[in-house]
Amino acid sequence: MVKKVECPECGSEVTLSDGVVENEILDCSTCGVELEVVSLKPLKVELAPEEEEDWGE
Ligand SMILES: [Zn+2]
Repeated sequence: MVKKVECPECGSEVTLSDGVVENEILDCSTCGVELEVVSLKPLKVELAPEEEEDWGE
């Protein structure tokens, strides 16, 4: 079963793999933004937080 969500950044349809899991990070193939799966039911993605290299030294 193919799962699709709308990219919150550009509005394009993003196809999720069959075995998608919560907290999975995926890329929008249209705008290239990183998306995080925040919920499976209902299926919902949000922009993934920017990765911080400095974890507070
Ligand atoms: Zn996008």
